[in-house]
Amino acid sequence: MVNVTTAHTRRNLVVGNWKMNGSRAANAALLNDLHAAGPFNGDVAVCAPFPYLADVALALQGSRVAWGAQDCSAHESGAYTGEVSVGMLAEFACRYVLVGHSERRAMHAETDQLVADKAKIALAHGLTPIVCVGETLAEREAGQTEAVVKRQLSAVIHTLAHCISQVVVAYEPVWAIGTSKTASPEQAQAVHAVLRAQLQAATEKAQHMQILYGGSVKADNAVQLFSQPDIDGGLIGGASLKAADFAAICKAMGSTRA
Ligand code: PEP
Repeated sequence: MVNVTTAHTRRNLVVGNWKMNGSRAANAALLNDLHAAGPFNGDVAVCAPFPYLADVALALQGSRVAWGAQDCSAHESGAYTGEVSVGMLAEFACRYVLVGHSERRAMHAETDQLVADKAKIALAHGLTPIVCVGETLAEREAGQTEAVVKRQLSAVIHTLAHCISQVVVAYEPVWAIGTSKTASPEQAQAVHAVLRAQLQAATEKAQHMQILYGGSVKADNAVQLFSQPDIDGGLIGGASLKAADFAAICKAMGSTRA
């Protein structure tokens, strides 16, 4: 693995991925409590299910917490029943959209190229795609971690060309998502360094790009993870559903960067 160490010059970012959870009442309470726990020393965002975006936008407008969606269509509009376009997300002032989450790749057969196309259309509409990459347990055990994440990121680099510097990358080992098995800070840093080096070969702005870690991040492991030189915050699933837990993770990033 390549070891690229960097000065801590990037802003940290913590993003909550609510997945298919919540209710209008529960979301309102969660956002209210999150707001009360802030402000945080870094960027914070929540990615909500589509039907809640209007409520979330209303609750968060004027606050320092941004919002986004968990997926988007790779198409502008048309006969794509059930899909949601980035143009629609832009109408709800989404700043971010997750693309290529491992649950989408695994359960909806999303290919590397489809993920790259989603990232491209997101940027075209002014949203920041959070491009998720990560290996399965079998791939890690077969020594393929580096090859897998590089292949996934490579499709996005080739599709976006010089615009690659505008994305956020999230390294999410599949075996760590929702399993309580977090990658150790050293394991995560090693992969982040590989990703940073790959980005560096594609853009001179790689040092300014945020690379998040996701996979069972909790308040008690966040500080160590976020202290790694190439880890710029986290993508948080389960722990983003409880305001106290999510706020504690948001505060952890504040203690790791100047
Ligand atoms: C995720 O879904 O992106 C995630 C990281 O989930 P969890 O934090 O629950 O592992």
